[in-house]
Order: sequence, then C-alpha cells, then structure tokens
Amino acid sequence: MAKEEKLNPFKIAQAQLDEAAELLGLDEGTHMALRTPMRELHVTLPVRMDNGKVKVFQGFRVQYNDARGPTKGGIRYHPEETIDTVRALAAWMTWKTAVVDIPLGGGKGGIVCNPKEMSQGELERLSRQYIRQVGRILGIGKDSPAPDVYTTPQIMAWMMDEFYWQIGYNDFGVITGKPIALGGSLGRSDATARGGIYTVREACKHLGIDPAKATYAIQGFGNAGQFAATLHTDVLGGGKLVAVSDSRGGIFSKDGIAPHAIVEHKLKTGKVEGFPNTKPITNEALLELEVDVLYPAALENVITDKNAGNIKAKISCELANGPTTPEADKILTKNGVFIIPDFLANAGGVTVSYFEMVQDHYNYFWDLKTVHERLDAKMTKAFHDVLNTFNQYKKKNITMRTAAYLVSVARVAEAMKLRGWV
Ligand code: NAD
Repeated sequence: MAKEEKLNPFKIAQAQLDEAAELLGLDEGTHMALRTPMRELHVTLPVRMDNGKVKVFQGFRVQYNDARGPTKGGIRYHPEETIDTVRALAAWMTWKTAVVDIPLGGGKGGIVCNPKEMSQGELERLSRQYIRQVGRILGIGKDSPAPDVYTTPQIMAWMMDEFYWQIGYNDFGVITGKPIALGGSLGRSDATARGGIYTVREACKHLGIDPAKATYAIQGFGNAGQFAATLHTDVLGGGKLVAVSDSRGGIFSKDGIAPHAIVEHKLKTGKVEGFPNTKPITNEALLELEVDVLYPAALENVITDKNAGNIKAKISCELANGPTTPEADKILTKNGVFIIPDFLANAGGVTVSYFEMVQDHYNYFWDLKTVHERLDAKMTKAFHDVLNTFNQYKKKNITMRTAAYLVSVARVAEAMKLRGWV
C-alpha cells in the first residue's frame, strides 16, 4: 500500500477483511460483497448559525451490511471526518455486532464540524438538520444511530425528537445512548469501557496477570477513557493508573493517579493537565510506557510501524476504533503484546445500545444489575470465542484481531448465504 493508503482507515479495514477471507477460504462473491458498504448517503446540511449567517456542513450515513439485522452505529462530529473513516467504522460495526452475537448489522454516521466551536443552539440545529436529511433511511428494522466521538446523550435526544416529528409517533429505539428520561438504558454511559474491562479481566486470567496489581495507562480521556480509568479499579479490585492524556497533552505519575479525582479534575477544568503531583507526558510517550495494560481510547492510527516496536504494555485493550495499523499489529503480536482488538474490546457500547433498543421496543426497563450481568455474559463469551479461534489458528501465526475477524466474518457470511444473497 502507498503511504497515504496505509493510514486510510477504510483501506485498513479492507486489508483486514482480505486476510480473514483468505484464511476462511471465503468464495470470491461473498468476499467482494463484504468489501464495500451496501448503502451510503451523503448529505448537505445548511444550518443557521448564531451570527445569522447560514453555514453548510457535510454529513454521511453508511449502512455497511444488514444481513444479520438492522444496521447500528454511532455518529461522530469531527472537523477531520471523512467518508472513508465512516466507511471503515461502519465495517467495524458489522464485525463488532457479529463478534458479540447480537442481531444487528453495522453502520456509522458523521458530520464534518468542530463541535468545540459551536454553541448549544447551533449544535441542536445541526443535529436536527442531519435527521431531516438522514431520517428517511433510519427506523425500526432499518438503522439506528448512537453517540460516538463528540456526540452526547443530549444530541441523541434532539435527534430522536426530530425523528418523532417526521414519523408522527415515538420510536425511542431509533436512537440509542439517549438520556434515561427519554428511553435510555441504565448502564449505557459506561458500557464501552465496562465491556473492555470485562475482556481485560479475561485476558489477565489467560496471561496469569493479577489485574488488582496491574499498572495501566489511558490515551484519550473522553467517555471511553474516563470510565476505563475508574472501572479498572472499581471492577477489577485495584490496579495503578500511571498516565492519562487528552488532545491537549498528558500527565504521568509513577506513584499512581487517583482515578475518580482525575475524572473530576477533567470535568472541572476540561483537561487532564495540571493535576497535582504529576509530570507532563506526551501522547506518544504515554503509549510507550512499561505498563501491564494500555488503553488506547482516543482516535485511529496512533500505533503504527514507527512506534509499535517501542510498545512495552503486556495487554493493549483497544477502546478506540482503529488505533493500530496492520503493520503495527504484526509487530505487537511478534513482541508478545496481547491485543484485545477494537471491535471486541469496545463492543460493550453497542451491546448495551442493543439492550436499550430491546427495552424501548417492549417498553419495559431493566435494573442496572441485570444490564451488567447480561453485558458481562456477552463480552466474556465473545472474548473466549475469539481466544479459542486464536488458539485454533496458532500454527498460522495470526493476531488476535485476525481471530476476531474470523469469528465475525464467518457469522456475517453465513447470514448472507442463508438469505440467498451470495
Ligand atoms: P470522546 O469524544 O468522549 O473523547 C475523545 C477523547 O480523545 C477526548 O478526551 C479527546 O481530548 C481525546 N483526543 C482527541 N484527539 C486526541 C489525540 N490526538 N491524542 C490524545 N487524545 C485525543 O469520545 P469517546 O466516545 O470516548 O470515543 C473514543 C474512542 O472510542 C473513539 O475511537 C470511538 O470511536 C471509540 N468508541 C467509543 C464508544 C462510546 O460508546 N463512547 C463506543 C465504541 C468505540
């Protein structure tokens, strides 16, 4: 691949699929049908800004594959959003829903915008405009969005409400990650990190690491990263958080950073910098720390062939989507870094989103304990399905990511065959 292509997330997603297709001996028709999205919608979104002028934004919704059920996937608001990023994320959603074996397909959406520079009113008008355009391909049995980078439960509430005005009745299940008062599920807000923590618990068992004594570092301190910080200690019974970072920079302390206090500091000040008794650390250096568990929880392509050789973590639990390039994957695996690949590690979010849809559709809500137990069961089973496949293919020197692909691609391919699509 040319250098630019190497970091194009969609090219990466396709290369990962190609490897799995070959190992599975997938016929060419099925392989090709899985290589590109089934549908995508590109939309133009004129929005009246607070200064009275109209600004035009670009948005996308990609429905990658719905053989196993209606498509599902988050909506990202990001100034550098591209259609190829959305395609890749939609592909990964397809593999993600398959690996945790929930009856959904994969989709994703995005708007090219910088929410940090927009008022609440501007964000509301943009979010409603997106649904006015994209609503025609959403709904029960079709596609249902959720939050992702820089989108929030409030944004989901506006979107759900706009859809209500389009169809004339409440379809709470059309959007997940909503506030509890509007059909949200208990346990959704920390579900991505919690699901990842359950897989770390299983990985530690497998590798003979005591998670209560494990050191850990987190890159990215948003929804996924913040909950990973507190849940690692709360769920796994201890551990020492030594570094965290966000887009402005990172902090390090070899004596440990109190997880709940750093979350509070971030909420109060909007950054992790300046937390008492810590030293600054760059995002790059954080990745190379000697820790038991590394949680990449920011954006894609942060571990590449340039720095993979320097990664010293025993486990990389990829809460972010696409943090590791295929070249880096091979280097990490060769060096004995145990990867819990993104679409397995961060599948807790979509799993509880699925629970939210189920509860919305039968209009009866579960308690938190039930959500946690059902999430744990799904994540633990998915982790072991992937680990068993990894062990089965040991002679072929595959990575954990390829093992996850083998599980998911086989499930999606089976559904397509049974439907008579291929
Ligand atoms: P978020 O918007 O809440 O947080 C993103 C965080 O990353 C912020 O702290 C931001 O400062 C930081 N960041 C941005 N650029 C960075 C950089 N260059 N270096 C270091 N930090 C940087 O987003 P989130 O929901 O926590 O999502 C993070 C990752 O997890 C994304 O890859 C997302 O796709 C993935 N993910 C999230 C969910 C979910 O339910 N929230 C589910 C599945 C996957």
